[in-house]
Amino acid sequence: TVEERREEQTETVPKKLPKGVVLGPDGKPCRSCTSVASWFAMAKKSPSDATTTSATTTTPTPTYPSDCPPDVEQLGRSSWTLLHSITAQYPESPSPQLQSETKTFMHTFSKLYPCWHCATDFQTWMKKDGNAPRVSSREEFGRWMCEAHNAVNVKIGKKEFDCTKWEERWRTGWKD
Ligand code: FAD
Repeated sequence: TVEERREEQTETVPKKLPKGVVLGPDGKPCRSCTSVASWFAMAKKSPSDATTTSATTTTPTPTYPSDCPPDVEQLGRSSWTLLHSITAQYPESPSPQLQSETKTFMHTFSKLYPCWHCATDFQTWMKKDGNAPRVSSREEFGRWMCEAHNAVNVKIGKKEFDCTKWEERWRTGWKD
């Protein structure tokens, strides 16, 4: 059951943690800071308990059941979807009040983001010269969000996204 699974995942914590398991400020493994693969390794669960297998490979990819708390990747994907979608609907000429509220929102978001080490690094990035939220128009905010996302992509070894394409990806859809 979901309850049993939750107990196994939160209480069966081996003394030696597998690589990739990140601890939270309380000293316990932090689910929203850890990938699903490391989480399953820690819980010593077989990926076959919850797997997806693509058509081109026979290697199962562990995944959480859809009704369980998110791992660091699910949380990230959902968060970026929300953030980029906010920029997509942002006015072309926002009022001074909205601009101010948007800056406050990003500041608060960076404090509340549930993966603590992601949040800390994101706050540090925003404090660097030139990285404060730029919110005077949709185009500016969309570009800024793309740059913020790229900073995380670089940090975790992912490919940078071409920011000239942010609006096609998140607002208008691809041209062809
Ligand atoms: P995602 O990076 O989630 O991107 C989703 C989609 O957005 C992509 O498929 C692509 O179409 C599009 N996209 C990609 N880059 C851009 C861009 N620059 N601009 C516009 N669109 C783009 N994970 C960690 O492991 N460590 C961290 O420190 C960390 N910090 C994070 C900080 C924040 C504020 C957030 C929101 C997430 C963080 N994450 C972190 C999660 C990480 O960024 C990814 O979301 C996660 O690894 C899943 O990646 P993904 O490959 O599914 O695509």
